[in-house]
Amino acid sequence: MNNKISTPLRTKLIMERYGFHLKKKYGQNFLVDQGILEEIVSGAELSKDDVVIEIGPGIGSLTQYLADNAREVIAIEIDKKLIPILEETLIDYDNVTIIEQDVLKIDLNQLIEEKWQGKKVKIIANLPYYITTPIIMKIFETHIPLDSITVMVQKEVADRMQANPSTKDFGSLTLAVKYYSEPKVVVQVPPSCFIPRPKVGSSVIRLKATDKYIDMGLDDVFLFKVIRGAFQQRRKTLVNTLSHQEELELSKDKIREALTELGISVTIRGEALNLDEFVELAKKLQS
Ligand code: SAM
Repeated sequence: MNNKISTPLRTKLIMERYGFHLKKKYGQNFLVDQGILEEIVSGAELSKDDVVIEIGPGIGSLTQYLADNAREVIAIEIDKKLIPILEETLIDYDNVTIIEQDVLKIDLNQLIEEKWQGKKVKIIANLPYYITTPIIMKIFETHIPLDSITVMVQKEVADRMQANPSTKDFGSLTLAVKYYSEPKVVVQVPPSCFIPRPKVGSSVIRLKATDKYIDMGLDDVFLFKVIRGAFQQRRKTLVNTLSHQEELELSKDKIREALTELGISVTIRGEALNLDEFVELAKKLQS
């Protein structure tokens, strides 16, 4: 196809024709750079056998590239004003299904089971930045059959995903990404590639799903309650902050005992622990 949606001129014309006004509250920054769209497709290692879920198709710029390169695409869009636009811009594609829904509310497992009988999916998106972390955490924690996530995020979020312990960027998102995947930055993206231009730089990052920890049969919901609790007040000791998390119901003595058994100082802060240490700690705290 050579009538790409993703040029600045076509994007503006499409929005004008429909009287569409961009909504800040939905994080609408549309991609208008074909080089970046090609990088996303190649970074995701997309092939004609792949099934893809796109979050937030906008007016269909990325969707068009996904439909050209994958077997089938489901695009989930919250803004009902965009649905008639997508139905027109993607009219030539019989392998795209548009769903008007909030991605944080939809049952992804049910969708994948009904549509593709549980085949592993690739999640690909230029994410709405106001809910990047909840979306990524939902994808991981609902254990959908997942090949990989390839997404545009704020550069600062991509940095957090790959941070080292005891740095300011290190936190529960870093640990979740490490627990469920192997991260790799595909490309850095300047504000000039979007309409309107975001105030921050962006990165496309690929999170290739791994089973390394999942195969250990851990209770990851409990593990991430511990991890989130540990970072809630990152300047406090782990014993103090975890014992104040009501949902965990852990006494200071129990936490001290677990740390001592693991040979970890009882005055340590959560930000100094690596993922393997959190895993061992969660196992002890749950026993
Ligand atoms: N994919 C398009 C592109 O690259 O030009 C648009 C990307 S724009 C950064 C984010 C898109 O996500 C918007 O279309 C927005 O309406 C949509 N969106 C925002 N919140 C959403 C939600 N909770 N569920 C589904 N889509 C959402």
